[in-house]
Amino acid sequence: MGAKIIDGQAIANQIQEEVKEKVAARVAAGKPVPGLATVLVGGDPASAMYVKMKQKRCAMVGIESFHVELPADISQEELENKVAELNADPKVHGILVQLPLPKGLDEERVLQAIDIKKDVDGFHPLNIGRLAQKGRTPVFLPATPAGCIELLLRSGVEMEGANAVVLGRSNIVGMPVALLLVERNATVTICHSRTKDLPGVVRQADILIAAVGWPEMVKGDWLKEGVVIIDVGTNKVEADNEKGYKWVGDVDFEAAMKVASLVTPVPRGVGPMTIAMLLQNTLKAAELADG
Ligand code: NDP
Repeated sequence: MGAKIIDGQAIANQIQEEVKEKVAARVAAGKPVPGLATVLVGGDPASAMYVKMKQKRCAMVGIESFHVELPADISQEELENKVAELNADPKVHGILVQLPLPKGLDEERVLQAIDIKKDVDGFHPLNIGRLAQKGRTPVFLPATPAGCIELLLRSGVEMEGANAVVLGRSNIVGMPVALLLVERNATVTICHSRTKDLPGVVRQADILIAAVGWPEMVKGDWLKEGVVIIDVGTNKVEADNEKGYKWVGDVDFEAAMKVASLVTPVPRGVGPMTIAMLLQNTLKAAELADG
């Protein structure tokens, strides 16, 4: 069996186009331009690059960005005051505090300080709490997990009743994606570093979401014939090319292509979806502010 590739880049572009059209329509109707504030604390180059990518995509769809850069030694109080200022700014509809924060800052308190109606990253404890409760609807869903579900939906994958295995239980990917799969009526197994017989558990999966951060950990003989694979893992490994490195997922892609029915590649899989979902959330935040 030869798997089909789920083209995350193409799906993300499609979502971006949808957001762009809706932004243009609301601006033409005299409604405010959606605004996203990005808060970068400290000078971590990877975080700075992610923020730049987000601003660039905002510009492409007509969302205004407001960038706040703060020093790594900022106090907890000053940072929370900055968030409060952004909460009060009517031009800012969404607030994204780039994580991780430098050591010494209390991430949970900062996330809690964000107005829940501006929490476009979906990490406010209230949003996550609602996600974990039956019948409660979060205002926003976290971008990467929501992107995984969107890829499944737009690829026509039936989640109801499927055996879904999630590798990883982090706050930003594994746990929320597992909760979203439960909400879609999948039967979900969450695996982590203490799981026994990982290959045996993975072999039960109709849908596999891999988010561990170990290059090509999942081997071909761990996979059930016809499994659908969403590979969130983004791992930099040495390569015999000009750059000297390449990106690989948590799943052995070549092997998966022989056994699975659908597979996301790395790159051009889940990665582009994260920003696409953030744009969608920012538009939603602006719509919520319309009243
Ligand atoms: P974390 O390091 O926070 O979590 C990794 C999880 O994997 C933990 O729950 C850990 O278990 C589990 N784990 C680690 N080793 C093993 C193992 N040998 N067997 C089983 N489980 C294991 O990572 P993140 O969730 O932040 O990210 C995961 C991957 O996804 C990374 O490659 C990251 O780069 C990528 N990523 C991609 C994004 C995108 O494409 N937009 C966005 C975010 C992340 P335990 O809890 O027991 O420690």
